[in-house]
Amino acid sequence: MFYLTEQFFSIQGEGKYAGVPSYFLRTGGCNLNCPGFGAEYVVDGEVRLGCDTYFAVDGHFSNKWQKVTSANTLISQLKDEFAKIGYVPDMVITGGEPLMYSKDDIFYTVVEAMVDHGVKITFETNGTIEIDFENYPAYKSCIFALSLKLANSGEPTEKCIIPQALINVQTHAKESFLKFTIDAALVEATAIDEINEIREILPELDVYCMPVGESRDTIWRNDKAVFEFCMKHNFHYSDRLHIRVFDTTQGV
Ligand code: SF4
Repeated sequence: MFYLTEQFFSIQGEGKYAGVPSYFLRTGGCNLNCPGFGAEYVVDGEVRLGCDTYFAVDGHFSNKWQKVTSANTLISQLKDEFAKIGYVPDMVITGGEPLMYSKDDIFYTVVEAMVDHGVKITFETNGTIEIDFENYPAYKSCIFALSLKLANSGEPTEKCIIPQALINVQTHAKESFLKFTIDAALVEATAIDEINEIREILPELDVYCMPVGESRDTIWRNDKAVFEFCMKHNFHYSDRLHIRVFDTTQGV
């Protein structure tokens, strides 16, 4: 069993495949909280801090999440959706942290069926989960967008950077790349040192940096600094197209 918080057809807004029409599955639950990203929300009168997808992270919202208890039902729903779309789009499996479910029978059966159906799957992952590529070989056919968390996430480095898990992905996945969400303050502080430490672990992977922001307003506060940071260090700048276009609207 795994939790889905939403599914929708849209355009990938971030990273290497920004701009590509994609079908999104967003799972519920995460092994991190990332309060440093500063998205504020209120639960029972208490202000909490999280990331822009706090609604898929905080267990408080789990009563709104869908329990997926049948792989076959979801697989046939997805095929129906593709038929309505008129072609088989790329798929982005995001969260929360989707790979918390990497060994879940139902989750893996869905992934395997999509791979067999010719779907190009990208996992948007925080990279902290060690994948068992040997016993779950469909993951070898997937792309891993390693969205590793830096100091601005508010999480301790030892929780965010698990070298063995990262090397495992670099070695076995069809494709992987690094994606960092940074803000103007981090650019001035430790961003380059933190990224360089990670690149010592993963020297082969391309780096994409994008501005922190759960809204157009917060992106505008960070984009120029990140843009210039990428030019200075020969990294790829990634915008966040869905937030530019739809602002804080969910399910797009
Ligand atoms: S790892 Fe990602 S989904 Fe989880 S809390 Fe951090 S930013 Fe949000």
